[in-house]
Amino acid sequence: MTVLERVAVIGGGTMGAGIAQVYATVGAEVTVVESDGAAAEAARDRIAAGLARTAERGKLPVPAEAVMQRIHLITQIDGIPSTVQLVVEAVPEKPELKVAILAAAEKALPAGAVLASNTSSLSIAELGSALELPERFLGLHFFNPVPASKLVEIVCARQTRDDVRDLAVQWVRSLGKTDVVVRDSPGFATSRLGVTLGLEAIRMLEEGVADAAAIDHAMELGYRHPMGPLRLTDLVGLDVRLAVAEYLHVKLGERFAPPQLLRDKVARGELGKKAGHGFYHWD
Ligand code: NAD
Repeated sequence: MTVLERVAVIGGGTMGAGIAQVYATVGAEVTVVESDGAAAEAARDRIAAGLARTAERGKLPVPAEAVMQRIHLITQIDGIPSTVQLVVEAVPEKPELKVAILAAAEKALPAGAVLASNTSSLSIAELGSALELPERFLGLHFFNPVPASKLVEIVCARQTRDDVRDLAVQWVRSLGKTDVVVRDSPGFATSRLGVTLGLEAIRMLEEGVADAAAIDHAMELGYRHPMGPLRLTDLVGLDVRLAVAEYLHVKLGERFAPPQLLRDKVARGELGKKAGHGFYHWD
C-alpha cells in the first residue's frame, strides 16, 4: 500500500476545492495551484466553506483547522513540491487549456508521480497527447459535491500503465470512496449514460409526452432514481449539459444531437438552478 502523503490540485474551483478538502482530511499535504492571488484566496474560502458544510453534516472526523493547515495555496505550477505523488488537474473543461496545464505540470513532477485529470467527458488519450510520459496519466472523475459523493470514475487510456491505475484505485479507496474503472471513451460511463437520459427526457418534453415534473416522477418513483433527469439537468447546468452533448454528438454520433429545446433554453439564459430558472423555477 503506497500511502498518499503529498497531492497537488490545479484549479481550486467547485471540484478542485472539494478534492483538496478530501485529501487533506485523510492526512495528505495538499498544494492547490490557482491562476492568481485573488483566485487563490477565493479557493481558500471555498475549501473553508466546504469543510464547514461537512462539519455541519457531522461528517468531518478531524478539526477543520487541522485540515486547513495541510492546504497550501500557490499561483505557479512550477511551485508544486518535488515530492508530490499525485497531481489532479481540475481547471475548466476547455481542451486547449487542459493540454497546456498538463504539459506544464508534467515538467514539475518527479519521475514516479501520477498525473490525473478531473475532466467529465474529454478523451484522456487526447488530453495526454502532449505529455512526454502519457503512461502515467489517467482520468480521476470526482463528482459534485466531492466530500459527499461516494463515486470516483477512474478512466484509463490505452497507454495508462496498470501500476498507475492500481495506485489510483488505492488512493480513491483511501478516501472511503468507491471506484469504477472504465476504458477511455467519450463521456466515460457516467456522463454518457447521464446525458443520454437527460437528452431523451428533454425530447419527451418537446414532444409533449408529459410535463417536467411527471417525467421526473416517472424515474424517481418508477425506477428509484434519487432525482429525475430534468431536475438533475437543472442542478448540473443546462449550458454544461449542452457542451457535453455537443462533444458526444461529434464523437459518438446522432443519438447525442442536442434537442432544440435545450439550445433555446441555453440561448435564453435559462441555465438551471444557478440562473434561477431551467426546467423548473428555483428561488
Ligand atoms: P470551476 O470553474 O468551478 O473551477 C475551475 C478553477 O480553475 C477556477 O477556480 C479557476 O480560477 C481555475 N483556473 C482556471 N485557469 C487556471 C490556470 N491556468 N491555473 C490554475 N487554475 C486555473 O470548474 P469546476 O466545476 O470545478 O470544473 C473543473 C473540472 O471538473 C472540469 O473539467 C469539469 O468538467 C470537471 N467536473 C465538474 C463537475 C461539476 O459538477 N462542476 C463534476 C465533475 C467534473
